[in-house]
Amino acid sequence: MTTSRKILVTGASRGLGKSIALELGQFGHSIAVHYGRSSEEAQAVAEAIRASGGTAELIQGDLSSLDGAKAVAAAATQALGGLEVLVNNAGITKDGLVMRMKDEDWDAVIDTNLSAPFALIRAAIRGMLTAKWGRIVNVSSIVGLMGNPGQANYIAAKAGLIGLTKAIAKEYGGKGITCNAIAPGFIESDMTEKLPEALKAKYLESIPAARFGKPEDVAALIAFLVSDGAAYINGQTIAVDGGLYAH
Ligand code: NAP
Repeated sequence: MTTSRKILVTGASRGLGKSIALELGQFGHSIAVHYGRSSEEAQAVAEAIRASGGTAELIQGDLSSLDGAKAVAAAATQALGGLEVLVNNAGITKDGLVMRMKDEDWDAVIDTNLSAPFALIRAAIRGMLTAKWGRIVNVSSIVGLMGNPGQANYIAAKAGLIGLTKAIAKEYGGKGITCNAIAPGFIESDMTEKLPEALKAKYLESIPAARFGKPEDVAALIAFLVSDGAAYINGQTIAVDGGLYAH
């Protein structure tokens, strides 16, 4: 039987985060469904979790600053009565070639995709230390491992998240806490929907699975990583990419 956990999933209103929250909700966990702007979508996710037998709390908050991230962690901890599992999923892209990238687009992506997860981890880890149990999963990206033209800000943030994952694993691995990263490849969501068709066709040619991933492909891995069965997996970056980047 699965132990019921108190779980915060950031960016759970849409895409991967929605699927992760729904998957975890099915196991009877208590889920803090975090969202930024998509309140109706987040509400629907929370209702679906409750309908499947789980517990859900809605947490609104902007993750584009450290203070915003701290506020989200505090609100989730209060709503759930603790925080045992943190899934850092929320993220953005602001693509452009390095020579044309605006300073504010660099900052926005680093702030949301790397600094906010750092603040959330720091806020969550205190309670995990007291409980001597915790799970942190950081949603990185395969491009954080393999690189990609036109995404220097995103790749720097996602590679940074992999480094942060390893640091947390080394610092707290002896305290019953694991911290792992996942590196999704090309997954169907609003984020990838906006890419030009020609680019999507090019990506598809390099995926051995011959299809794009679905959010459910990612959610299944996260459900395992936060379980008791994954206690000995720590500091890893696990790709979910249909074989795109075998490393
Ligand atoms: P998405 O469909 O664009 O959804 C992004 C989520 O992040 C939304 O729930 C959004 O909330 C939230 N969010 C973004 N900025 C926020 C902010 N400043 N404050 C609060 N919430 C914010 O993206 P996705 O494709 O599901 O991606 C989810 C994660 O997977 C990201 O970290 C992404 O980098 C990573 N990833 C995706 C792919 C892919 O192929 N899709 C591949 C590799 C990695 P609201 O809508 O409520 O504002």
